[in-house]
Amino acid sequence: EARNPHEPEFLQAVQEVAETIIPFLDENPKYNNARILERMVEPERVLMFRVPWLNDKNEVEVNRGFRVQMNSAIGPYKGGLRFHSSVNLSILKFLAFEQVFKNSLTGLPMGGGKGGSDFDPTGKSDSEIMKFCQSFMTELYRHVGADIDVPAGDIGVGAREVGYMFGQYKRIKGQFTGVLTGKGLSWGGSAIRPEATGYGVVYFAEHMLATRGETLEGKTVAISGSGNVAQFTVERCLQAGAKVVTLSDSSGFIYDPQGICVERLAYVMELKNEKRGRIKEYAEKFGCEFYEGERPWRIKCDVALPSASQNELDEADARALVANGCICVAEGANMPSTPEAIHVFTEAKILYAPGKASNAGGVAVSGLEMSQNSLRISWSREEVNSKLWQIMKDIHGLCVKYGTEEDGYINYEKGANIGGFIKVADAMLAQGVI
Ligand code: NDP
Repeated sequence: EARNPHEPEFLQAVQEVAETIIPFLDENPKYNNARILERMVEPERVLMFRVPWLNDKNEVEVNRGFRVQMNSAIGPYKGGLRFHSSVNLSILKFLAFEQVFKNSLTGLPMGGGKGGSDFDPTGKSDSEIMKFCQSFMTELYRHVGADIDVPAGDIGVGAREVGYMFGQYKRIKGQFTGVLTGKGLSWGGSAIRPEATGYGVVYFAEHMLATRGETLEGKTVAISGSGNVAQFTVERCLQAGAKVVTLSDSSGFIYDPQGICVERLAYVMELKNEKRGRIKEYAEKFGCEFYEGERPWRIKCDVALPSASQNELDEADARALVANGCICVAEGANMPSTPEAIHVFTEAKILYAPGKASNAGGVAVSGLEMSQNSLRISWSREEVNSKLWQIMKDIHGLCVKYGTEEDGYINYEKGANIGGFIKVADAMLAQGVI
């Protein structure tokens, strides 16, 4: 703590990993002798830079840009860029740290990193977004590259922003390379990348439910957020025969007791991705309730898939979920559940998966996008989807392998932390004191 003051989210993420890893390290002294965990919590490199740009009124605006290059033991740094007013070093270090474990779990050769800016995209024109993205890449280009560091999207960064950044990188370097993932299909993107995180979360939840002889068919699902992850989580839930009753954004949540159907989901996608509107408009359009400033966790559901942001599900929310009979929580967002909430889930012995396991599908398909770029080929939707399905199955298997407790309860958090740690730690051991 003394070393990382004012970094509560980073300390929270490290603490969560340390609690489950330390007993494992004590049984495997080779890792402690080489001080692997102490090295892993120190980023290999942190870049912070000025991002000046001109708004539509021709006024100068200044934001701060970041890239945290956390760990490159098993491959180039890989992880998204987040544009949100709340972005700071603590949040990006926590995300980069989690990313190291997540990327390792996918089985693909990717190190961990994360970056972004405190730029707030809300209400910005398309031209302002482009100018910001170009200025951001005008510095970032020095630090990234297809074999060095390959950023992707995250909150506030979707296909549009990736496009503007890719264009600027190409212009500066004069090279068309796979420096970013989440690209458009016609210029190097992978099939299924937009869907990957959401679909992967649902595949993972299906594997979790299967351990108790259950399926998603007929289950009621509560989802938070209404962005990229939430939208495709809904899509896949519908394909699996579940009923999704909530979505949210930072203003509040909608409750649709009938269930969000394919047509209503199409409306959400247009509302959020084209019109850049608010989820409240869903309630107005379809005549259901909007709960201003609230989160959806007190709605009765069988399965909860938090897909908005960190610390969006606290102890009281967790208690409400358990009391209402929720049997499975799989995280689409990164660290959405507070430590106290996780404790409630594991005490109640309900199925609970941390984001680093359940939301790894996004980065996994980004890894497949990198492979396709290097090979200069593109795989079909079916091919990518079946690889994604297999990767989520394998991650689930690792969680079961390392997380099953004496009474048979699967501690996915422990399983994901140990399963992700071993590969990175062994690579660090092999590469010496670096
Ligand atoms: P988007 O920007 O597409 O959507 C984010 C959604 O979450 C929006 O509905 C947004 O509402 C809401 N949200 C953001 N911050 C808050 C907040 N503080 N309180 C309440 N709601 C909030 O981002 P993604 O869907 O890509 O990302 C969602 C989560 O999933 C993040 O935790 C991200 O790190 C994680 N993730 C994303 C992956 C990806 O492939 N995109 C991969 C793995 C994890 P509003 O519009 O009001 O801001």
